[in-house]
Amino acid sequence: MQIVRTISQLNNLINAVKKEGKTVGFVPTMGYLHEGHISLVEEAKKHDDFIVMSIFVNPLQFGPNEDFELYPRDLKRDEKLAKMANVDVIFYPDVQEMYQKDLTCTVHVQKGVNALCGKSRPGHFDGVATVVLKLFNIVQPTRAYFGMKDAQQVAVIENLIADFNVPVQLMKCKTLREEDGLARSSRNVYLTNVERQQAPEIYRSLKQAVENIEAGEKSTSKLKEEMISHLSLTTTGEVDYVEILSYPSLDEISAIEGQVIIAIALKFSKARLIDNVTITV
Ligand code: AMP
Repeated sequence: MQIVRTISQLNNLINAVKKEGKTVGFVPTMGYLHEGHISLVEEAKKHDDFIVMSIFVNPLQFGPNEDFELYPRDLKRDEKLAKMANVDVIFYPDVQEMYQKDLTCTVHVQKGVNALCGKSRPGHFDGVATVVLKLFNIVQPTRAYFGMKDAQQVAVIENLIADFNVPVQLMKCKTLREEDGLARSSRNVYLTNVERQQAPEIYRSLKQAVENIEAGEKSTSKLKEEMISHLSLTTTGEVDYVEILSYPSLDEISAIEGQVIIAIALKFSKARLIDNVTITV
């Protein structure tokens, strides 16, 4: 496995791989790898010959009071995990390499960002879309693998690909969880012991909502009320949002119908955790 730090070196490598007729699978990450990231690599290996993983903590997608500086980083550890998973190349640019000069153009996401994380993190998805478009142009992958853990991100990238005719196939991968249901996340390391015990309540609350829907509950306000009270009773976290929306359009709905996303963001002392489930009724 190689670690490549420059765009030109990566371009040379990808050109050589493509000349051999191989397909390229791309797994973009911010590093501090866990089993969730590795599950994307496993999926990529089922479809593609050559696997590129990027590790880049993108300053553009962090707000001024967010955790860009604090975001966990450990290349040595990531290198071991990626190698074990048979990643072919880690693309590991620094901020200077990705943004060599001030950008004259950025992507502004117009649709699907007035809810969920887009609402509480203004500008976040502009930063995501901008870096993902750059990465797509740099890596030129056949397929790109994204986790449904970040379902709003998947919806935004799907629109980005369609809007800009990006020749890449988007692969949506399911959320990998700990045994107690907590979604794997690089931010889980910032939970205190007590918060770690409480964090599975996020998924429990989502599952309870699914059960209630399956039992015939249609009212999104009733379902949301129950989730908020569950989280308040069982955790010390502060509810950032509890939402039930149409998916992938992310419009508000009062009654459950068609494909919906049930999503939670909960702020613990040092980690804001997100999770969601999508169901079709
Ligand atoms: P991140 O490093 O958090 O930006 O995540 C990189 C990619 O891994 C994104 O496509 C995420 O949706 C995906 N991902 C993160 N956590 C999980 C998980 N628990 N299961 C599956 N995919 C995940």
